[in-house]
Amino acid sequence: MATDRTAVIGFPVDHSLSPIIHNHWIKELGLDTKPYEKINVDPNKFEEQINNLKAEGYGGLNVTVPLKELAFSISDETSGVSKKLKSVNTLSLNSEKINGDNTDAVGFINSLDEKTIENNIANKKTLVLGAGGSARSVVHALNELGGHVRLFNRTLEKARILLDDLSINSSPVGAEELDDYANSSSFIVNTTSLGQKAGEHNNILRFENIEMETFIYDLIYNPKRSSFLEQAEAKGLKVQNGLRMLIEQAACSFQIWHEIKVGVSEELMSLLESV
Ligand code: NAP
Repeated sequence: MATDRTAVIGFPVDHSLSPIIHNHWIKELGLDTKPYEKINVDPNKFEEQINNLKAEGYGGLNVTVPLKELAFSISDETSGVSKKLKSVNTLSLNSEKINGDNTDAVGFINSLDEKTIENNIANKKTLVLGAGGSARSVVHALNELGGHVRLFNRTLEKARILLDDLSINSSPVGAEELDDYANSSSFIVNTTSLGQKAGEHNNILRFENIEMETFIYDLIYNPKRSSFLEQAEAKGLKVQNGLRMLIEQAACSFQIWHEIKVGVSEELMSLLESV
C-alpha cells in the first residue's frame, strides 16, 4: 500500500520527534510523498477528526498519548498484539477500512542487543517500574522474550490489572520487597514518566546493592541521561535510554505504510540526540 500523507497524532503532539525520524527516511529514500506531519487531535472529537484526516488523504497515522486506546476502539481490524494490548499506535486508513497495529512492543524488542536478551532477559528475573501505557508493551515484550516479569507501580492496583489483562502469571512487587527483588533482577526498566521534567529525580530504586551484571533501561530519551540512568551509570552498570526504541517503533510503522525496511543509522541517532 503506497501511503502519500502520514502524520503523528496526539494531544498535545507538539514535542514529538516522529516527524524528524520519518522525514529523514522519506528524504534518504527519495520517496515521492508529502512530508510527515504532527497534528493535534482532540480526544473528545476523535472519530470525527480521524474521518476528516482520512477524507484529506492521510493514509498512515502514528498515535501517541492519550489517543492509543481510542485508536484501538475505532479500528475495523487490529493486529494480534494490538488486541492483546488494547492499544494502537499505527493506523492505516483506506476507503474501505481502518487497520490498527501496535509497534511499541516490537520496537522495544528490536532496540535490544541479542546479548542483552540472552544474558539478562531470557529465563531471567526482570523488573518493570510503572504500569502505564508503555509498561503494557514492555511487559508483553519481556514475556515474549522469555523473561520472568514482575512490576512495581506507585498505584499497586494498576500493576495488578495490567498483569491480569495481559494474562501474565506473575504478581506486582510491593514497596516493602522492591529493593530485594531489584537486587536479584538481571534487567530493570523504568517505564514511569518520572524524570522527564527538568529537575525531576527518579528515586524509586536504591542502586547500592544492584548486581553489576544488571542491565538498566529507561524509556525516557529526553533528557538523554535521566536521573535514573545517571544513578546506574555512577555505579558502573550497563544502561540504555529510550531513543533506539523510539526509532525502532517508527521503523516498523514506516514498513507497514511504505513496505520498505529502514534501519537505525548513526546519522539518525545523532540527529535526534542533537535536538
Ligand atoms: P502513562 O501511561 O501516563 O504512565 C505513567 C506511569 O508513570 C504510571 O505508571 C505512573 O504511576 C508513573 N508515574 C508518573 N509519575 C510518577 C511519580 N511521580 N512517581 C512514581 N510513578 C510515577 O505514560 P506512558 O505512556 O507509559 O509513558 C511513560 C514514559 O515512557 C514517558 O516518559 C514517555 O515519554 C516514555 N515513552 C517512551 C517511549 C519510547 O519509544 N522510548 C515509548 C512510550 C513512552 P501511577 O499509575 O501510579 O500514576
